Parts: sequence; structure tokens; C-alpha cells
Amino acid sequence: MARAAVSGGLSPRLVWRAARLVEFRDETPSARTLVFDVPDWPGHLPGQHVDVRLTAEDGYSTERSYSIATPADGTRVALTVQLVEDGEVSPYLIQTLSVGDVIELRGPVGGWFVWRSADPAPVLLIGGGSGIVPLMAMIRARRAAGSKALFRLIYSARTPEDRYYADELRTRVRDDFGLDVSYVYTRKTPEGWPLPPRRLGVADVNNGGWPPDFQPACFVCGPTGFVEAVADILIALGHDARRVKTERFGPSGT
Ligand SMILES: Cc1cc2nc3c(=O)[nH]c(=O)nc-3n(C[C@H](O)[C@H](O)[C@H](O)COP(=O)(O)OP(=O)(O)OC[C@H]3O[C@@H](n4cnc5c(N)ncnc54)[C@H](O)[C@@H]3O)c2cc1C
Repeated sequence: MARAAVSGGLSPRLVWRAARLVEFRDETPSARTLVFDVPDWPGHLPGQHVDVRLTAEDGYSTERSYSIATPADGTRVALTVQLVEDGEVSPYLIQTLSVGDVIELRGPVGGWFVWRSADPAPVLLIGGGSGIVPLMAMIRARRAAGSKALFRLIYSARTPEDRYYADELRTRVRDDFGLDVSYVYTRKTPEGWPLPPRRLGVADVNNGGWPPDFQPACFVCGPTGFVEAVADILIALGHDARRVKTERFGPSGT
């Protein structure tokens, strides 16, 4: 009886679903967007992620989390995966998985790090490396919903070649009124860039962000060290801690 009650109440997002790779595109030499078809996908909000499970023939299985890169679109779920050279899962997803192959997905996961298109408040997005992925889902969702919320993105990448979605972001800044994007490069800048490579600092958040008085909704995502440093800057600048939402991807720094 109790067992029936538990399984009968199982949330659809806790179910593992078969996800078939239908297309992919390379965003950078070491990052690939994978588009899956997931029958019965329940939909998701921008900012949410999925769990991916890979199972070997001998039954060994392993799981990792990946943010969803696009707003809800029927049964399509797009992820952008950065290659971690000595990693277990990301090399498989980027180098081995082929169109037609099936993996397992569970989700959507996370109800906190999400942007809702009905929210008119200004938004500040700050991403480091692959931390751009859920922020891009928010930028795409803003356009899809015709939202007029003012968005600013500060994107920290190692080099210009490491930027994800570079062409699309250029187009969105041109066509999506109320979206601004600024870049910080940590290892190599484009030619003629006015500043040397460096880590994102207070001046970048001041120049590329919103004043705390505007009470923006802040979303910060990337490697753990990056997220902690940026959250500290936002709080030191006077942003309300309750409006600073963070998502940590992993152990390394940019
Ligand atoms: C909520 C959430 C969302 C995420 N979304 C994304 C996403 O959209 N795109 C994406 O590419 N990744 C994302 N990640 C990170 C992802 O889950 C994996 O950690 C990453 O792909 C590495 O897995 P792996 O199996 O290849 O490496 P592992 O076998 O887990 O690790 C191998 C080595 O790499 C180090 N390492 C582990 N994770 C990282 C990392 N993130 N960065 C650098 N070094 C690491 C480990 O310390 C270890 O030394 C997300 C993580 C979380 C928690």
C-alpha cells in the first residue's frame, strides 16, 4: 500500500527517460551542443538542469548534471557540454556519442536558479566558461516570450575562441532591444582589446551590471571559485543577497 502510494506519487521529473541524440553542433573546439529528443518530456524553465546517466554494458553507470541551453520546446532538450580532458562523462558525450544514440536523462531539476518570463525586474547574468549555458537559456527564453525585462550579461571566457554562442549573442544584442553583453577574457583578448587578460573584478560588475538600487535579479553561474568571487563582489557592491542566485558547476577556476 505504502509502496503503491510512493510510486503513484513519483514526480515525472524523477523518472529516467530515454533521450536520443538528433543533432549536434560545435560551439568551440572543446564544447559541443547536443540536441536530444526526449519523448514525454514534461517541459522546463530556463536555468534548470538535467541529470545524465550513462550505463556501460557491464552494468556500471555514472551520472552528471548538465544545464539546459534552450527554453522549453516540445520534446527537444539541448545541452552544451565542455570537454574535461581527463573526465569520465564529457569526453564520451562530445567524442563518442553519435546521432541516433540513446542515453538517459532525468529532470528538469532545480526550482531556484530559474528566470520566469512574467518577471519584469531587470536581470544581471554573470557567467564563467560553460556557466553561460543556463544564462543563454534565459536570454533565449526572453526573446521567445517577447519579454521587455532589461537584461545584461557579463561573460568571462578564457579567450575569444572559447566563447559559446558568439554569433548568436552578436545577433541578439543587435535585434533584442534591452539586452547588453560585455566580455572579460582571462587568458587572451581579441586584438585591440582595451584591457589585458584578467579575472572579472568589481569594475566589470560596476560597468557591465546594474546598480543595486535597480534591484536586479542576479544569476551567477560557472566554476565554484568564479561563482564565489562574483557573489562576494555583488554583495560588497550592495546587492540584496536574496536576489543573487548561484549555480556551481565544478571544482576548477577559469
Ligand atoms: C547543476 C550543474 C549544471 C552543470 N551544467 C553543465 C553544463 O551545462 N555544461 C558543462 O560542460 N558542464 C556542466 N556541469 C558540470 C558537469 O556536471 C561535469 O562536472 C563535467 O562535465 C565534468 O564531468 P566529467 O565526467 O567529464 O569529469 P569527471 O570525471 O567528473 O572529472 C574529471 C576531472 O575534472 C575535474 N572536473 C570535474 N568537473 C569539472 C568541471 N565542471 N570543470 C572543470 N573540471 C572539472 C575533476 O575534479 C577531475 O579532476 C554542471 C554541473 C552542475 C552541478
